[in-house]
Amino acid sequence: MVKDGAKHIASLRDARTIYLNGEVVENPVDHPAFRNAIRSYGQMYDFQAQPENVDKMTFVSPDTGNRINRAWQLPASYEELVARREALETWSELHYGFLGRSPDHVASCIAGMFMGLPAFEAYDQKRARALANYYRYARDNDLFITYVIINPQADRSKTAHQQADPYLTAAVVDEDAEGITVRGAKMLATSGVMANEVLVTSIQPLQEGDEMYALSFAIPMNSKGLRILSRKSYEQHAVSIYDNPLSSRFDENDALLYFDNVKVPWERVFVYKDVGMVQKQFHATPAHVFQNYQCQIRLMVKMRFLAGLAIGVAKTNGIIGFPQVREALGQIAAEAQMVDALVCSMEIKGHRVGSYFMPDAHTLYSAQVLTQQLYGKVVNSIRDLAGGGLIMLPSSVHDFDDPYLRGIIEKTQKSPVATSEERVKFFKLVWDAIGSEFGSRHTQYEMFYAGATFVTKNHSFRTYDWGSASGLVDKCLSGYSLEQELAHRKAAE
Ligand SMILES: Cc1cc2nc3c(=O)[nH]c(=O)nc-3n(C[C@H](O)[C@H](O)[C@H](O)COP(=O)(O)OP(=O)(O)OC[C@H]3O[C@@H](n4cnc5c(N)ncnc54)[C@H](O)[C@@H]3O)c2cc1C
Repeated sequence: MVKDGAKHIASLRDARTIYLNGEVVENPVDHPAFRNAIRSYGQMYDFQAQPENVDKMTFVSPDTGNRINRAWQLPASYEELVARREALETWSELHYGFLGRSPDHVASCIAGMFMGLPAFEAYDQKRARALANYYRYARDNDLFITYVIINPQADRSKTAHQQADPYLTAAVVDEDAEGITVRGAKMLATSGVMANEVLVTSIQPLQEGDEMYALSFAIPMNSKGLRILSRKSYEQHAVSIYDNPLSSRFDENDALLYFDNVKVPWERVFVYKDVGMVQKQFHATPAHVFQNYQCQIRLMVKMRFLAGLAIGVAKTNGIIGFPQVREALGQIAAEAQMVDALVCSMEIKGHRVGSYFMPDAHTLYSAQVLTQQLYGKVVNSIRDLAGGGLIMLPSSVHDFDDPYLRGIIEKTQKSPVATSEERVKFFKLVWDAIGSEFGSRHTQYEMFYAGATFVTKNHSFRTYDWGSASGLVDKCLSGYSLEQELAHRKAAE
Protein backbone atom coordinates (compact mmCIF):
# COMPACT_ATOMS: atom_id res chain seq x y z
CA MET A 1 0.00 0.00 0.00
CA VAL A 2 3.03 2.33 0.16
CA LYS A 3 3.37 4.73 -2.78
CA ASP A 4 6.19 3.57 -5.05
CA GLY A 5 7.96 5.00 -8.10
CA ALA A 6 5.70 3.36 -10.66
CA LYS A 7 2.64 4.86 -9.02
CA HIS A 8 4.20 8.31 -8.93
CA ILE A 9 5.42 8.21 -12.51
CA ALA A 10 2.03 6.98 -13.75
CA SER A 11 0.35 9.87 -11.93
CA LEU A 12 2.30 12.38 -14.06
CA ARG A 13 0.78 11.14 -17.33
CA ASP A 14 -2.08 13.57 -16.82
CA ALA A 15 -2.02 15.93 -19.82
CA ARG A 16 -0.54 18.89 -17.93
CA THR A 17 0.52 21.83 -20.13
CA ILE A 18 4.29 22.33 -20.14
CA TYR A 19 6.08 24.68 -22.52
CA LEU A 20 9.74 24.19 -23.42
CA ASN A 21 11.70 25.75 -26.28
CA GLY A 22 8.56 27.13 -27.89
CA GLU A 23 6.75 23.81 -27.92
CA VAL A 24 4.19 22.03 -25.79
CA VAL A 25 5.62 18.96 -24.07
CA GLU A 26 3.02 16.26 -24.49
CA ASN A 27 4.39 13.90 -21.91
CA PRO A 28 7.17 14.90 -19.47
CA VAL A 29 7.63 11.32 -18.26
CA ASP A 30 9.35 10.30 -21.50
CA HIS A 31 10.77 13.68 -22.54
CA PRO A 32 14.59 14.05 -22.61
CA ALA A 33 14.31 17.32 -20.66
CA PHE A 34 12.61 15.75 -17.64
CA ARG A 35 12.54 11.95 -17.73
CA ASN A 36 15.62 11.23 -15.61
CA ALA A 37 14.70 13.67 -12.86
CA ILE A 38 11.21 12.17 -12.81
CA ARG A 39 12.80 8.74 -12.39
CA SER A 40 14.99 10.06 -9.55
CA TYR A 41 11.81 11.06 -7.75
CA GLY A 42 10.41 7.65 -8.63
CA GLN A 43 13.43 6.07 -6.93
CA MET A 44 12.70 8.02 -3.77
CA TYR A 45 9.21 6.51 -3.66
CA ASP A 46 10.62 3.07 -4.52
CA PHE A 47 13.02 3.43 -1.59
CA GLN A 48 10.24 4.17 0.90
CA ALA A 49 8.25 1.19 -0.40
CA GLN A 50 11.06 -1.33 0.10
CA PRO A 51 10.13 -3.62 3.02
CA GLU A 52 13.39 -2.91 4.89
CA ASN A 53 12.78 0.88 4.69
CA VAL A 54 9.06 1.08 5.32
CA ASP A 55 9.24 1.56 9.09
CA LYS A 56 11.92 4.23 8.87
CA MET A 57 10.43 6.16 5.96
CA THR A 58 6.69 5.96 6.59
CA PHE A 59 4.05 6.08 9.31
CA VAL A 60 0.47 4.87 9.48
CA SER A 61 -2.30 7.26 8.44
CA PRO A 62 -4.69 7.67 11.39
CA ASP A 63 -7.60 7.75 8.90
CA THR A 64 -6.87 5.02 6.34
CA GLY A 65 -4.36 2.74 8.06
CA ASN A 66 -2.12 3.03 4.97
CA ARG A 67 1.54 3.90 5.31
CA ILE A 68 2.67 7.30 3.99
CA ASN A 69 5.89 9.29 4.02
CA ARG A 70 6.91 10.69 7.41
CA ALA A 71 7.00 14.23 5.99
CA TRP A 72 3.23 14.21 6.60
CA GLN A 73 3.67 13.15 10.23
CA LEU A 74 2.75 15.63 12.96
CA PRO A 75 5.39 15.04 15.64
CA ALA A 76 4.02 15.03 19.17
CA SER A 77 7.38 14.66 20.94
CA TYR A 78 11.10 15.23 20.54
CA GLU A 79 11.51 11.53 19.70
CA GLU A 80 8.94 11.71 16.91
CA LEU A 81 10.54 14.86 15.54
CA VAL A 82 13.91 13.10 15.38
CA ALA A 83 12.44 9.94 13.80
CA ARG A 84 10.79 12.15 11.19
CA ARG A 85 14.07 13.97 10.54
CA GLU A 86 15.96 10.69 10.16
CA ALA A 87 13.53 9.69 7.40
CA LEU A 88 13.94 13.05 5.62
CA GLU A 89 17.72 12.87 5.99
CA THR A 90 17.80 9.36 4.51
CA TRP A 91 15.65 10.50 1.60
CA SER A 92 18.00 13.46 0.95
CA GLU A 93 20.96 11.10 0.81
CA LEU A 94 19.39 9.50 -2.30
CA HIS A 95 19.96 12.76 -4.22
CA TYR A 96 22.90 14.12 -2.17
CA GLY A 97 20.78 17.16 -1.27
CA PHE A 98 20.41 18.30 -4.89
CA LEU A 99 16.62 17.96 -5.13
CA GLY A 100 15.65 21.12 -3.27
CA ARG A 101 11.90 20.85 -3.63
CA SER A 102 11.68 17.13 -2.99
CA PRO A 103 8.21 15.92 -1.94
CA ASP A 104 9.00 16.34 1.77
CA HIS A 105 9.33 20.13 1.41
CA VAL A 106 5.79 21.31 0.73
CA ALA A 107 4.42 18.32 2.69
CA SER A 108 6.24 19.83 5.70
CA CYS A 109 4.64 23.21 4.99
CA ILE A 110 1.10 21.85 4.71
CA ALA A 111 1.57 19.63 7.76
CA GLY A 112 2.71 22.80 9.58
CA MET A 113 -0.41 24.66 8.46
CA PHE A 114 -2.56 21.81 9.72
CA MET A 115 -0.75 21.87 13.08
CA GLY A 116 -1.76 25.53 13.23
CA LEU A 117 -5.40 24.88 12.31
CA PRO A 118 -6.72 27.11 15.15
CA ALA A 119 -5.27 30.13 13.29
CA PHE A 120 -7.38 29.19 10.23
CA GLU A 121 -10.44 28.50 12.42
CA ALA A 122 -10.16 31.93 14.01
CA TYR A 123 -10.07 33.41 10.50
CA ASP A 124 -12.86 31.46 8.75
CA GLN A 125 -14.42 28.09 9.60
CA LYS A 126 -15.07 27.12 5.94
CA ARG A 127 -11.56 27.90 4.80
CA ALA A 128 -10.18 26.05 7.85
CA ARG A 129 -12.25 22.99 6.91
CA ALA A 130 -10.91 23.19 3.34
CA LEU A 131 -7.33 23.27 4.65
CA ALA A 132 -7.89 20.38 7.07
CA ASN A 133 -9.54 18.24 4.37
CA TYR A 134 -6.74 19.04 1.93
CA TYR A 135 -4.06 18.05 4.44
CA ARG A 136 -5.79 14.69 4.96
CA TYR A 137 -6.30 14.13 1.23
CA ALA A 138 -2.70 15.03 0.31
CA ARG A 139 -1.31 12.97 3.22
CA ASP A 140 -3.39 9.86 2.49
CA ASN A 141 -2.45 9.96 -1.20
CA ASP A 142 1.18 10.79 -0.35
CA LEU A 143 1.00 13.58 -2.93
CA PHE A 144 4.03 15.35 -4.30
CA ILE A 145 3.21 19.06 -4.06
CA THR A 146 5.27 22.05 -5.14
CA TYR A 147 4.52 25.67 -4.30
CA VAL A 148 4.62 29.12 -5.84
CA ILE A 149 4.65 31.72 -3.09
CA ILE A 150 6.50 34.60 -4.78
CA ASN A 151 5.10 37.26 -7.10
CA PRO A 152 6.97 37.66 -10.40
CA GLN A 153 9.78 40.20 -10.40
CA ALA A 154 8.91 43.36 -12.27
CA ASP A 155 9.14 46.54 -10.22
CA ARG A 156 10.04 45.51 -6.68
CA SER A 157 9.60 49.08 -5.44
CA LYS A 158 5.86 48.63 -6.01
CA THR A 159 3.44 46.18 -4.43
CA ALA A 160 1.25 43.77 -6.45
CA HIS A 161 -1.64 46.13 -7.22
CA GLN A 162 0.70 48.98 -8.18
CA GLN A 163 2.33 47.07 -11.08
CA ALA A 164 1.48 48.35 -14.57
CA ASP A 165 -0.53 45.20 -15.36
CA PRO A 166 -2.95 44.31 -12.53
CA TYR A 167 -2.84 40.67 -13.68
CA LEU A 168 0.94 40.33 -13.74
CA THR A 169 0.63 38.60 -10.37
CA ALA A 170 -1.96 35.84 -10.08
CA ALA A 171 -5.18 37.44 -8.84
CA VAL A 172 -8.89 36.72 -8.54
CA VAL A 173 -10.86 37.75 -11.61
CA ASP A 174 -14.18 36.24 -10.65
CA GLU A 175 -16.02 34.16 -8.06
CA ASP A 176 -19.25 32.14 -8.09
CA ALA A 177 -20.92 29.40 -6.08
CA GLU A 178 -18.38 26.79 -7.27
CA GLY A 179 -15.20 28.69 -6.67
CA ILE A 180 -12.87 31.42 -7.83
CA THR A 181 -11.17 32.17 -11.16
CA VAL A 182 -7.51 33.19 -11.12
CA ARG A 183 -5.40 34.95 -13.75
CA GLY A 184 -1.73 35.98 -13.73
CA ALA A 185 1.68 34.58 -12.87
CA LYS A 186 3.70 33.25 -9.95
CA MET A 187 7.35 32.31 -9.62
CA LEU A 188 8.99 29.82 -9.39
CA ALA A 189 7.63 26.28 -9.38
CA THR A 190 10.68 24.17 -8.69
CA SER A 191 9.79 20.55 -9.46
CA GLY A 192 6.44 21.73 -10.79
CA VAL A 193 6.85 19.59 -13.90
CA MET A 194 7.27 16.53 -11.66
CA ALA A 195 4.76 17.25 -8.89
CA ASN A 196 1.11 16.27 -8.59
CA GLU A 197 -0.23 19.57 -7.29
CA VAL A 198 0.79 23.13 -6.51
CA LEU A 199 0.10 25.30 -3.48
CA VAL A 200 -0.35 28.88 -4.67
CA THR A 201 -0.06 31.74 -2.21
CA SER A 202 2.11 34.68 -1.19
CA ILE A 203 4.84 34.73 1.40
CA GLN A 204 5.88 38.26 0.49
CA PRO A 205 4.02 40.71 2.72
CA LEU A 206 1.10 42.20 0.79
CA GLN A 207 -0.31 45.63 1.47
CA GLU A 208 -3.67 47.31 1.67
CA GLY A 209 -5.05 47.32 -1.88
CA ASP A 210 -3.53 43.88 -2.60
CA GLU A 211 -6.63 41.94 -1.51
CA MET A 212 -7.20 40.31 -4.93
CA TYR A 213 -3.72 38.76 -4.65
CA ALA A 214 -4.15 37.64 -1.03
CA LEU A 215 -4.99 34.03 -1.79
CA SER A 216 -4.01 30.55 -0.76
CA PHE A 217 -5.19 27.53 -2.71
CA ALA A 218 -3.99 24.18 -4.07
CA ILE A 219 -4.76 22.65 -7.46
CA PRO A 220 -3.54 19.74 -9.60
CA MET A 221 -0.77 20.52 -12.08
CA ASN A 222 -3.07 19.49 -14.94
CA SER A 223 -5.75 22.03 -14.03
CA LYS A 224 -7.39 23.61 -17.06
CA GLY A 225 -5.64 26.88 -17.93
CA LEU A 226 -2.52 26.23 -15.82
CA ARG A 227 0.55 26.87 -17.99
CA ILE A 228 3.97 25.59 -16.87
CA LEU A 229 6.75 27.62 -18.53
CA SER A 230 9.93 25.61 -17.99
CA ARG A 231 13.36 27.18 -17.83
CA LYS A 232 16.14 25.64 -19.95
CA SER A 233 16.56 21.98 -19.11
CA TYR A 234 20.07 21.06 -17.93
CA GLU A 235 19.14 17.39 -18.13
CA GLN A 236 18.46 17.75 -21.86
CA HIS A 237 21.93 19.25 -22.37
CA ALA A 238 23.73 16.63 -20.30
CA VAL A 239 25.96 14.47 -22.52
CA SER A 240 25.93 11.34 -20.35
CA ILE A 241 25.77 10.33 -16.71
CA TYR A 242 29.59 10.02 -16.71
CA ASP A 243 29.94 13.59 -18.04
CA ASN A 244 27.14 15.21 -16.03
CA PRO A 245 26.39 12.86 -13.15
CA LEU A 246 24.14 15.31 -11.30
CA SER A 247 22.49 17.42 -13.99
CA SER A 248 21.63 14.32 -15.99
CA ARG A 249 19.61 12.87 -13.07
CA PHE A 250 18.73 15.57 -10.53
CA ASP A 251 17.64 18.58 -12.61
CA GLU A 252 14.47 19.29 -10.65
CA ASN A 253 13.48 22.08 -13.06
CA ASP A 254 12.05 25.50 -12.23
CA ALA A 255 9.08 27.01 -14.01
CA LEU A 256 7.05 30.16 -14.10
CA LEU A 257 3.39 29.33 -13.66
CA TYR A 258 0.79 31.27 -15.60
CA PHE A 259 -2.84 30.97 -14.56
CA ASP A 260 -4.93 31.57 -17.65
CA ASN A 261 -8.36 31.93 -16.03
CA VAL A 262 -7.94 28.86 -13.85
CA LYS A 263 -11.03 27.78 -11.90
CA VAL A 264 -10.34 26.84 -8.28
CA PRO A 265 -13.16 25.13 -6.34
CA TRP A 266 -13.97 26.58 -2.90
CA GLU A 267 -12.94 23.34 -1.19
CA ARG A 268 -9.39 24.10 -2.36
CA VAL A 269 -9.31 27.74 -1.21
CA PHE A 270 -7.64 28.24 2.19
CA VAL A 271 -7.33 32.03 2.30
CA TYR A 272 -9.43 34.44 0.29
CA LYS A 273 -8.70 38.14 -0.15
CA ASP A 274 -7.18 38.52 3.31
CA VAL A 275 -3.81 40.25 3.37
CA GLY A 276 -3.20 39.47 7.06
CA MET A 277 -4.14 35.80 6.85
CA VAL A 278 -1.74 34.99 3.98
CA GLN A 279 1.06 35.96 6.36
CA LYS A 280 -0.50 34.25 9.37
CA GLN A 281 -0.83 30.92 7.53
CA PHE A 282 2.99 30.75 7.59
CA HIS A 283 3.90 32.58 10.77
CA ALA A 284 0.96 32.02 13.17
CA THR A 285 1.25 28.27 12.46
CA PRO A 286 4.34 26.00 12.47
CA ALA A 287 4.30 25.97 8.61
CA HIS A 288 7.23 28.28 7.92
CA VAL A 289 9.38 26.63 10.54
CA PHE A 290 8.62 23.09 9.36
CA GLN A 291 9.16 23.82 5.66
CA ASN A 292 12.51 25.47 6.31
CA TYR A 293 13.59 22.87 8.88
CA GLN A 294 13.23 20.36 6.01
CA CYS A 295 15.50 22.61 3.92
CA GLN A 296 18.21 22.57 6.56
CA ILE A 297 18.00 18.77 6.89
CA ARG A 298 18.53 18.51 3.13
CA LEU A 299 21.32 21.09 3.18
CA MET A 300 23.07 19.20 6.00
CA VAL A 301 23.34 16.22 3.62
CA LYS A 302 24.50 18.42 0.74
CA MET A 303 27.19 20.05 2.89
CA ARG A 304 28.52 16.58 3.78
CA PHE A 305 28.61 15.80 0.06
CA LEU A 306 30.53 19.04 -0.66
CA ALA A 307 32.99 18.19 2.13
CA GLY A 308 33.45 14.80 0.44
CA LEU A 309 34.20 16.53 -2.85
CA ALA A 310 36.71 18.85 -1.15
CA ILE A 311 38.77 16.08 0.41
CA GLY A 312 38.51 14.09 -2.82
CA VAL A 313 40.07 17.01 -4.72
CA ALA A 314 42.89 17.26 -2.18
CA LYS A 315 43.67 13.55 -2.41
CA THR A 316 43.33 13.34 -6.18
CA ASN A 317 45.77 16.20 -6.75
CA GLY A 318 48.24 15.09 -4.06
CA ILE A 319 47.90 18.35 -2.14
CA ILE A 320 46.47 16.92 1.08
CA GLY A 321 49.84 17.03 2.87
CA PHE A 322 50.17 20.82 2.56
CA PRO A 323 49.33 22.59 5.85
CA GLN A 324 47.35 25.31 4.05
CA VAL A 325 45.24 22.68 2.30
CA ARG A 326 44.51 20.92 5.59
CA GLU A 327 43.49 24.29 7.02
CA ALA A 328 41.11 24.85 4.11
CA LEU A 329 39.66 21.36 4.59
CA GLY A 330 39.35 21.96 8.34
CA GLN A 331 37.37 25.11 7.62
CA ILE A 332 35.03 23.28 5.21
CA ALA A 333 34.60 20.43 7.71
CA ALA A 334 33.73 22.91 10.48
CA GLU A 335 31.20 24.61 8.21
CA ALA A 336 29.58 21.34 7.18
CA GLN A 337 29.41 20.21 10.80
CA MET A 338 27.88 23.53 11.84
CA VAL A 339 24.80 22.70 9.76
CA ASP A 340 24.52 19.29 11.49
CA ALA A 341 24.85 21.01 14.86
CA LEU A 342 22.20 23.59 14.00
CA VAL A 343 19.72 20.90 12.95
CA CYS A 344 20.31 19.00 16.23
CA SER A 345 20.02 22.25 18.16
CA MET A 346 16.66 23.09 16.50
CA GLU A 347 15.38 19.75 17.77
CA ILE A 348 16.89 19.87 21.27
CA LYS A 349 15.66 23.44 21.80
CA GLY A 350 12.27 22.53 20.29
CA HIS A 351 9.05 22.94 22.24
CA ARG A 352 5.43 21.89 22.25
CA VAL A 353 2.79 24.01 20.53
CA GLY A 354 -0.59 22.54 21.44
CA SER A 355 -0.33 18.80 20.76
CA TYR A 356 2.75 19.11 18.56
CA PHE A 357 6.49 19.37 19.04
CA MET A 358 8.17 21.93 16.82
CA PRO A 359 11.81 22.82 16.15
CA ASP A 360 13.18 26.02 17.67
CA ALA A 361 12.34 28.90 15.35
CA HIS A 362 15.27 31.17 16.08
CA THR A 363 17.85 28.41 15.66
CA LEU A 364 16.23 27.66 12.30
CA TYR A 365 16.40 31.29 11.19
CA SER A 366 20.02 31.53 12.37
CA ALA A 367 20.79 28.51 10.21
CA GLN A 368 19.07 30.13 7.22
CA VAL A 369 21.00 33.39 7.54
CA LEU A 370 24.32 31.62 7.99
CA THR A 371 23.93 28.91 5.36
CA GLN A 372 22.72 31.37 2.74
CA GLN A 373 26.16 32.99 3.03
CA LEU A 374 27.98 29.71 3.55
CA TYR A 375 27.05 27.83 0.41
CA GLY A 376 28.81 30.11 -2.08
CA LYS A 377 31.79 30.33 0.28
CA VAL A 378 32.21 26.55 0.41
CA VAL A 379 31.79 26.30 -3.37
CA ASN A 380 34.55 28.90 -3.77
CA SER A 381 36.81 27.02 -1.36
CA ILE A 382 36.43 23.87 -3.46
CA ARG A 383 37.17 25.86 -6.63
CA ASP A 384 40.27 27.23 -4.90
CA LEU A 385 41.46 23.72 -4.02
CA ALA A 386 40.69 22.32 -7.47
CA GLY A 387 42.39 24.83 -9.79
CA GLY A 388 42.39 23.99 -13.50
CA GLY A 389 41.66 20.30 -12.91
CA LEU A 390 37.96 21.13 -13.17
CA ILE A 391 38.54 22.29 -16.73
CA MET A 392 41.44 20.10 -17.90
CA LEU A 393 38.99 17.36 -18.85
CA PRO A 394 38.16 15.39 -21.98
CA SER A 395 35.27 17.00 -23.83
CA SER A 396 33.01 14.01 -23.28
CA VAL A 397 32.80 10.28 -22.76
CA HIS A 398 33.14 9.89 -26.55
CA ASP A 399 36.86 10.77 -26.34
CA PHE A 400 37.37 7.44 -24.56
CA ASP A 401 35.99 5.64 -27.66
CA ASP A 402 39.00 6.67 -29.75
CA PRO A 403 42.01 4.48 -28.82
CA TYR A 404 44.51 7.20 -29.76
CA LEU A 405 42.74 9.85 -27.66
CA ARG A 406 42.25 7.39 -24.82
CA GLY A 407 46.01 6.81 -24.84
CA ILE A 408 46.64 10.54 -24.46
CA ILE A 409 44.01 10.80 -21.72
CA GLU A 410 45.72 7.98 -19.85
CA LYS A 411 49.10 9.70 -20.19
CA THR A 412 47.86 13.12 -19.09
CA GLN A 413 45.13 12.58 -16.49
CA LYS A 414 47.36 11.62 -13.60
CA SER A 415 46.84 11.34 -9.86
CA PRO A 416 48.68 9.72 -6.96
CA VAL A 417 45.49 7.93 -5.88
CA ALA A 418 43.32 7.46 -8.96
CA THR A 419 43.47 5.96 -12.43
CA SER A 420 42.97 8.31 -15.37
CA GLU A 421 39.40 7.15 -15.77
CA GLU A 422 38.69 7.66 -12.05
CA ARG A 423 40.28 11.11 -12.10
CA VAL A 424 38.17 12.28 -15.05
CA LYS A 425 35.03 10.75 -13.53
CA PHE A 426 35.65 12.48 -10.20
CA PHE A 427 36.47 15.93 -11.59
CA LYS A 428 33.43 15.83 -13.87
CA LEU A 429 31.30 15.20 -10.76
CA VAL A 430 32.93 18.12 -8.94
CA TRP A 431 32.37 20.44 -11.90
CA ASP A 432 28.75 19.40 -12.25
CA ALA A 433 28.18 20.09 -8.54
CA ILE A 434 29.84 23.51 -8.33
CA GLY A 435 30.69 24.91 -11.77
CA SER A 436 28.30 23.72 -14.46
CA GLU A 437 25.12 25.61 -15.29
CA PHE A 438 23.37 23.12 -13.00
CA GLY A 439 25.95 23.77 -10.24
CA SER A 440 25.62 27.52 -10.65
CA ARG A 441 21.83 27.30 -10.40
CA HIS A 442 22.36 25.49 -7.10
CA THR A 443 24.34 28.42 -5.70
CA GLN A 444 21.48 30.71 -6.73
CA TYR A 445 19.01 28.29 -5.19
CA GLU A 446 20.76 28.12 -1.81
CA MET A 447 21.08 31.92 -1.78
CA PHE A 448 17.41 32.55 -2.52
CA TYR A 449 15.09 29.63 -1.89
CA ALA A 450 14.12 30.99 1.53
CA GLY A 451 13.99 34.63 0.43
CA ALA A 452 16.66 37.26 -0.12
CA THR A 453 19.10 37.87 2.75
CA PHE A 454 17.16 40.86 4.07
CA VAL A 455 14.17 38.53 4.47
CA THR A 456 15.96 35.78 6.40
CA LYS A 457 17.78 38.34 8.58
CA ASN A 458 14.44 39.89 9.45
CA HIS A 459 13.14 36.48 10.55
CA SER A 460 16.23 36.14 12.73
CA PHE A 461 15.69 39.63 14.12
CA ARG A 462 12.03 39.05 14.99
CA THR A 463 12.54 35.66 16.67
CA TYR A 464 15.74 36.16 18.68
CA ASP A 465 15.43 36.26 22.46
CA TRP A 466 16.44 39.92 22.74
CA GLY A 467 14.99 40.02 26.28
CA SER A 468 17.53 37.52 27.48
CA ALA A 469 20.39 39.29 25.66
CA SER A 470 19.38 42.72 26.97
CA GLY A 471 18.74 41.21 30.42
CA LEU A 472 22.39 40.20 30.69
CA VAL A 473 23.51 43.69 29.75
CA ASP A 474 21.04 45.22 32.26
CA LYS A 475 22.32 42.87 34.98
CA CYS A 476 25.86 43.99 34.27
CA LEU A 477 24.88 47.68 34.26
CA SER A 478 22.89 47.35 37.49
CA GLY A 479 25.94 46.03 39.33
CA TYR A 480 27.55 49.50 39.57
CA SER A 481 26.55 53.14 39.51
CA LEU A 482 28.03 56.57 39.36
CA GLU A 483 26.84 57.32 42.91
CA GLN A 484 28.48 54.20 44.33
CA GLU A 485 31.69 54.98 42.49
CA LEU A 486 31.80 58.57 43.78
CA ALA A 487 30.96 57.43 47.33
CA HIS A 488 33.69 54.80 47.12
CA ARG A 489 36.24 57.39 46.01
CA LYS A 490 35.17 59.78 48.77
CA ALA A 491 35.51 57.07 51.42
CA ALA A 492 39.00 56.25 50.15
CA GLU A 493 40.20 59.86 50.42
C1 LIG B 1 16.63 28.32 -8.19
C2 LIG B 1 15.44 28.94 -7.53
C3 LIG B 1 14.35 28.14 -7.24
C4 LIG B 1 13.22 28.69 -6.64
N1 LIG B 1 12.14 27.89 -6.35
C5 LIG B 1 11.01 28.43 -5.85
C6 LIG B 1 9.86 27.64 -5.59
O1 LIG B 1 9.85 26.43 -5.77
N2 LIG B 1 8.74 28.28 -5.16
C7 LIG B 1 8.70 29.62 -4.94
O2 LIG B 1 7.65 30.13 -4.53
N3 LIG B 1 9.79 30.38 -5.14
C8 LIG B 1 10.92 29.83 -5.60
N4 LIG B 1 12.01 30.62 -5.83
C9 LIG B 1 11.89 32.05 -5.64
C10 LIG B 1 12.54 32.50 -4.36
O3 LIG B 1 11.69 32.25 -3.27
C11 LIG B 1 12.86 33.97 -4.54
O4 LIG B 1 13.96 34.03 -5.45
C12 LIG B 1 13.22 34.67 -3.26
O5 LIG B 1 12.13 34.70 -2.38
C13 LIG B 1 13.69 36.09 -3.51
O6 LIG B 1 12.74 36.79 -4.26
P1 LIG B 1 13.14 37.43 -5.66
O7 LIG B 1 13.86 36.39 -6.45
O8 LIG B 1 11.96 38.03 -6.25
O9 LIG B 1 14.23 38.48 -5.29
P2 LIG B 1 13.93 40.00 -4.85
O10 LIG B 1 12.94 40.02 -3.75
O11 LIG B 1 13.60 40.79 -6.05
O12 LIG B 1 15.33 40.39 -4.28
C14 LIG B 1 16.51 40.44 -5.12
C15 LIG B 1 17.42 41.47 -4.50
O13 LIG B 1 16.85 42.76 -4.65
C16 LIG B 1 17.10 43.55 -3.46
N5 LIG B 1 15.79 43.86 -2.85
C17 LIG B 1 14.58 43.50 -3.32
N6 LIG B 1 13.61 43.97 -2.50
C18 LIG B 1 14.22 44.63 -1.51
C19 LIG B 1 13.75 45.32 -0.35
N7 LIG B 1 12.45 45.41 -0.08
N8 LIG B 1 14.66 45.86 0.49
C20 LIG B 1 15.98 45.74 0.23
N9 LIG B 1 16.49 45.10 -0.86
C21 LIG B 1 15.63 44.56 -1.72
C22 LIG B 1 18.00 42.68 -2.58
O14 LIG B 1 19.34 42.96 -2.91
C23 LIG B 1 17.67 41.27 -3.01
O15 LIG B 1 18.71 40.35 -2.76
C24 LIG B 1 13.19 30.07 -6.36
C25 LIG B 1 14.30 30.86 -6.63
C26 LIG B 1 15.42 30.31 -7.21
C27 LIG B 1 16.59 31.20 -7.49
